[in-house]
Amino acid sequence: MQLRIFFKTFPETSKCPSCGKIGTIRRSRTKNFVESSIKLSRVANLYKCRECGWRGMLKKYTVNKYSFITMFFYIVLVVSVAYIIRQVLMNNFGT
Ligand SMILES: [Zn+2]
Repeated sequence: MQLRIFFKTFPETSKCPSCGKIGTIRRSRTKNFVESSIKLSRVANLYKCRECGWRGMLKKYTVNKYSFITMFFYIVLVVSVAYIIRQVLMNNFGT
């Protein structure tokens, strides 16, 4: 079982959002302040397609079905722990 919410994406090996070709996307240099700050945030990277010339940002991390399973697992865990703590407090200090 993988307890992860964010999964790394591999844009270099995925489809181009514009022409749909696989393996044509390469990292692109940042050209202005906005692009640099996006890169610094480590959330997304700039990419460029060699085939059609598309240029844009692609997220470095993504969520998939395992993310929802993990989130559900954590929610259940937190609720259970909260319930147990409440029970313990009630037994010790409650009336
Ligand atoms: Zn393309």
